[in-house]
Order: sequence, then C-alpha cells, then structure tokens
Amino acid sequence: MKAKTFRTWMEHLQSSGRLAVIGKPVRLDYEIAAIAKKLDGKKAVYFTEVENYGIPVVSGICSTREDFAEALETDTYGIIPKFTEAVASPAPCNVVPDVEAPVKENVITKNIDLMKLFPIPVHHEKDSGNYITAGLFIVRDPVTRKQNVSIHRLQISGKDKLGALLLPRHTFHLYKQAEEAGRALECAIVIGVDPVTLLASQASTPFGVDELEIASALRGEPLELVRCETVDIDVPAYAEIVLEGKILPHVREPEGPFGEFPKYYGPRSDKEVVQITAVTHRNDPMFYTIVPAGYEHLLLGGLPREASLFQSVRQTVPTVKAVHMGPGGTCRYHAVVSIKKRNEGEAKNAIFAALANSFDIKHVVVVDEEVDIFNMEEVEWAIATRFQADKDLVVVQGAQGSKLDPSTAEGVGAKMGFDCTVPLNSEPMRYLRIQIPGYDDLKIEEYLGQNNALKSVHIEKK
Ligand code: MN
Repeated sequence: MKAKTFRTWMEHLQSSGRLAVIGKPVRLDYEIAAIAKKLDGKKAVYFTEVENYGIPVVSGICSTREDFAEALETDTYGIIPKFTEAVASPAPCNVVPDVEAPVKENVITKNIDLMKLFPIPVHHEKDSGNYITAGLFIVRDPVTRKQNVSIHRLQISGKDKLGALLLPRHTFHLYKQAEEAGRALECAIVIGVDPVTLLASQASTPFGVDELEIASALRGEPLELVRCETVDIDVPAYAEIVLEGKILPHVREPEGPFGEFPKYYGPRSDKEVVQITAVTHRNDPMFYTIVPAGYEHLLLGGLPREASLFQSVRQTVPTVKAVHMGPGGTCRYHAVVSIKKRNEGEAKNAIFAALANSFDIKHVVVVDEEVDIFNMEEVEWAIATRFQADKDLVVVQGAQGSKLDPSTAEGVGAKMGFDCTVPLNSEPMRYLRIQIPGYDDLKIEEYLGQNNALKSVHIEKK
C-alpha cells in the first residue's frame, strides 16, 4: 500500500517524479505558500531549508483526483463508490503500545513553544498570523467513547495556545456539552498522516461515526493508533506530529481573519481557545501544511461531499449516474449531476435532492447521462443548448447557504437549479450530437511521425 504512512506516500511521490524538492532557503511568511501554490495541481513540494528551522515543510501531497484515486488504489471513477462503501461500513482501528508508535519517539510536556518547535507558515496577505491548516482535530465522546475527527483552522495565539474555528458540527457539539458541564474538552491535533486517513477525516457522516474507522475501512486493514500522553485520545501511530490539549470552557479570544476555501477571508471574531498540554513527534519530523483554497484543500472537502451528494440524489432519482463538484465552485457551492431521465420532471427532483443534501450547495446543473460532467466545457455546452430559462430554471429565495459566501446575507441566500436534460418526447434528430464515424477508435499516432514533410510540389518557389 503506497499510502500506508505519510512517509511511504512521500517516497512514492518522489520515485514517480511528483515531488519538487526545494533546497533554496525559504521564508515562513508567504514564500512557502506562494511556491506551493505555483505547483498546486502539478507536484507535491518538500522544502528542505526553511529559514531558522531544522524541520522541513511539505505541501500538496494530493492535489489532483488522480492522486487521491491512486492513494485509494482505484481510478478516478472509483473514488466515490469506494468512499461511499467505507462510510457505510467503518472498520475498527488497532491501538498499539508506545514503543511501536513512531510518533512517540519524542515527547515534550514542558516549556512548549509551538513557533520555536515547528515551521508553521503564514499563508495569505491578510491572515492574522501563523496557522496550522492541516491538523486532524480528534475529540472523544465521553458517553459512547467514540472519537470524532475533523479539520479546523488553527491560529497560533500564544506559545502553547491556539485559536480555533469550530463550525456547528460534531466537534462543536461535544465541546458545548463539555462547556455546559463546566469542563474542558480534550483534543489531539495530528499533523502529517497518509492521504487516505486525511481524506477519511472529511467524511460526511452522522454524529457518532469515528472517521478513523472509515480510514481503516478504506485501507482494508486497521489503522494503527496510540494513546496520547496527557489526554484520553488515540492518534495515528505513524503521524509526524501530534499536539495534545484541551478546548477551554467559557474562554473566547480573537481569531482571524484567515484566507478560506472560497478565496475570501473568514472574518476576525472571538472564538474557542485550545491550550496545548503536550507535543509528540517522530524523529526528524516533517511539518505538513495545506495552502487554503488550493486544489488539495478543495478536493479534500469536495470528494467526501460528492459521495454524500450522490447518495442523496440516488434516494430521489435512482438513475443518477455521477455527481461532480468542481474547483470553480469551490468544490462545495456548485454541483453537476448526470441522470438517465426516465420520467419528465425527474431532473427538477434531482435539483431539489441536491440542494437538500448540504446548505453549502448553491447552484445545481442536471444533465443527461451522456454528458461528461467532469469536463466543464461539456457542461457549459449543455447549458448553452439544452436549457431555456423560462421553464428549466428553478430559483429558491432566502435559504440557508454558506456564511463564507460573501454574496449571502450572513449565510442566507438564493438557490438555483438548471434542468439541462433533453425533453423525453423530442424528435430524435433534434438533439442528436454530431459525430464523425471512426473518430473514437482512431489512433492519431498512426498518422503522424513518418512521411509528414510537405510534398515538394506544394512548396512555394522563391
Ligand atoms: Mn464526525
């Protein structure tokens, strides 16, 4: 398995020529983010010389659909079915002793100073400071003992203190329960895991499902965990770095602004505070950062959302063929759905099902099954030639949307759906795609290469 650990995946990227090693000294402020962004969607990047640090920084370990497909040992069309299956049947993890866990090679419990320990970058112009962007944030439900994993932006707010943005989902729910009882909520922040575990952390699941168990299911073998030093949390044993701590009750401090996935800044406001209690890391650790709004970030959010969207649409329209949330729509706001339409009106039902799947989804385009929805030029062609706004457009006013979409009123905004399917009763020639017989099977290489000089009779005489 190429994606067994962060390091095996890095080795695989290097041996397949997909790792850019930057030996020139780079600055923590903006320079790392700028270089990583230049290579976004092309290569992973490994910075060996970060100014004032002896620890390298890594970014972009998966920044295409093909990268994630390879990590999951499938092809790009296999990602959603494989992910869906794992979400439906999580598998147990395996807790190993400290001596078998590389992340315990170094344990720090005193005088913790995060900025002295690790090269934590500043990414965007107006960011409030250095941010951990790729930490798997793990908490435990004290009642069921099930863990929950998510990724939150984490501002360095002090030597051993982080400011966290907790959206009203699972981590927030467990934190509020603890806070109402006057308790802190223990947590662990895990940096540098294999890409399969990273993707699993983003699964859309009901409350109570442990995302690390989804990682085990995706891997086809138990993910190895180890118990933390100062908190009752189990973390991946082969992680590069783990920060242990607790979210303090009744404490809020300023956090933000921070450049977010829609390519705008999330605002500054008073947010939850994490007190760090211990740091553990491998020997020669690597620090991993995700550049916000890059392909790596967008796909990490988008692929699990597509899996969830596919399930939602299928409940209403069983003949749904594929769904796609592309980077132009931030992999969250725009959904393209292809269906095999059997009854008139089904495309509109598919629009409603997609909009009901997630408050983030804002615009939905429904096309017939033969349109390649991963090719946005094809999708635009379907809108251009199979859509009439007076009867094929659905607009809903005043629904809940994303608060990070600046065109909404604090998250309240409009939804829109395009029915770009061909009417079932249309006469066949009207929507018949032009085709050149033999085109699909033609191998152009067989026609190029030899005897391709212009015949002398056709060359202009001076
Ligand atoms: Mn969860």
